[in-house]
Amino acid sequence: MSVQKVAVITGGGRGIGAATAQLFARKGYAVCINYKSNSESANKLAQAIIAEGEKCITVQADVSCEDDVIRMFSTVDRELGSLSVLVNNAGILKKQSRLEDMTAARINSIFTNNVTSYFLCCREAVKRMSTRHGGFGGVIVNVSSGASRSGSPNEYIDYAASKGAIDTLTKGLSLEVAAEGIRVNCVRPGLIHTEMHADGGEPERVERLKSIIPLQRGGEPAEVAEAIYWLASDKSSFSTGNYLDLAGGL
Ligand code: NAP
Repeated sequence: MSVQKVAVITGGGRGIGAATAQLFARKGYAVCINYKSNSESANKLAQAIIAEGEKCITVQADVSCEDDVIRMFSTVDRELGSLSVLVNNAGILKKQSRLEDMTAARINSIFTNNVTSYFLCCREAVKRMSTRHGGFGGVIVNVSSGASRSGSPNEYIDYAASKGAIDTLTKGLSLEVAAEGIRVNCVRPGLIHTEMHADGGEPERVERLKSIIPLQRGGEPAEVAEAIYWLASDKSSFSTGNYLDLAGGL
């Protein structure tokens, strides 16, 4: 009997993470949906996945907090089994602003939530997956952003720079663990229809900017989820340290 693969999706209750959790469950993974505060959307998604006959748990954890991350991975060990895939997806952005108006509190919050969190989750995943630690290998997919290429001037350079750090994390970690059975890649979505743009102060941002996208439309979370799934699957078995841009040509 083959052992069921296990995937942790951080920020899996809404947006891109929710589409990813749903896809992995449909492909037969046991899924851990992590969320920070919106238990309603996470639990609703988990119930839908379980109703389809798949295995799924929700874990509340602030992934920028070390103790929460350790607790989340221990829960997965206990309730789902050996980790196969980590999708580092949880992220935040703040109101559109020029750099002159950014406080240290804001910048630190962006980096703690978007960068420290990815490092901590990668650390726990590597401890479990690496053949160096007795693991059987695995895959990490980081969700970066097209912002790491554009720099997001006049909107959120802090957010863009945090995603630049994720590109570098992906490259460095992929080389560090390549010989230990772990592949590390990232996706860089462009303008995707999710609630995140409301946090930036402009819920209709994708609609406003769609005419500058060569494909003339924003992306859907499910389109990003498909790319994440491909990078996590054996179909991409010779890919590591790579960036997959999903930005409609931008
Ligand atoms: P979203 O709809 O706002 O969802 C964000 C998710 O992250 C939520 O589930 C939220 O949890 C979770 N989260 C945030 N901080 C967390 C923390 N500290 N601990 C645990 N969970 C946390 O965002 P999205 O648009 O799907 O974005 C997902 C990823 O894609 C992010 O990394 C984002 O930067 C990236 N991205 C998005 C776009 C886009 O256009 N939407 C483009 C490029 C890249 P709760 O549900 O509990 O609040």
